[in-house]
Amino acid sequence: MEPAKPPVDIREGISVIFTEEQIRARVQELGEQITRDYAGGNLVLLCILKGSCLFMADLARAIALPLRMEFMGVSSYGEDTKTSGVVQITQDVSTPLADLDVLIVEDIVDTGLTLSYLQEQIHTRRPASVRVCSLLHKPARKVREIHIDYLGFTIEDRFVVGYGLDWSQKLRNLPFIGEVTDPSKPR
Ligand code: 5GP
Repeated sequence: MEPAKPPVDIREGISVIFTEEQIRARVQELGEQITRDYAGGNLVLLCILKGSCLFMADLARAIALPLRMEFMGVSSYGEDTKTSGVVQITQDVSTPLADLDVLIVEDIVDTGLTLSYLQEQIHTRRPASVRVCSLLHKPARKVREIHIDYLGFTIEDRFVVGYGLDWSQKLRNLPFIGEVTDPSKPR
């Protein structure tokens, strides 16, 4: 085995935009709203991988209703921080969405290209209803108009990381949402 390397502090060079407490409080509010709106329905939370995984896990626990969870892998960014405009389904749901109340759980709506493509795809599966819940919205970069039924926070045009959102596939495990201010730090 190689000698142990010195520990890396992944929080170094990152400024906090939303703290753990702010996220927890907002997710709780969204969960309560969804609980009221979907009472008596057939709710399925559709997690859009990978960025929504932490949000979905917390949101599901804030909803006091029977619900299903499904996962879809979609990739619209490469290893870079710029959108490619190309949306690809990398993993599909495991059970049919027909007659279910689908709530798409997204990490962030940026250009809106990913969600507009996804919504089209999901409608072809004949669900009873389709709504969108997004943790973040970056309206400055809008290319497609997306109606977000449940929104955590609106942000300015900046590339954010943490709470599921990545920096070249890393930093998803930060418990807060932040911005990399010093890209030279090892992560
Ligand atoms: P859109 O298709 O709306 O442009 O982008 C959607 C996807 O791009 C999001 O689900 C997310 O994975 C990625 N994305 C957009 N903005 C950001 C950002 O600020 N930070 C990170 N980490 N990913 C982003």
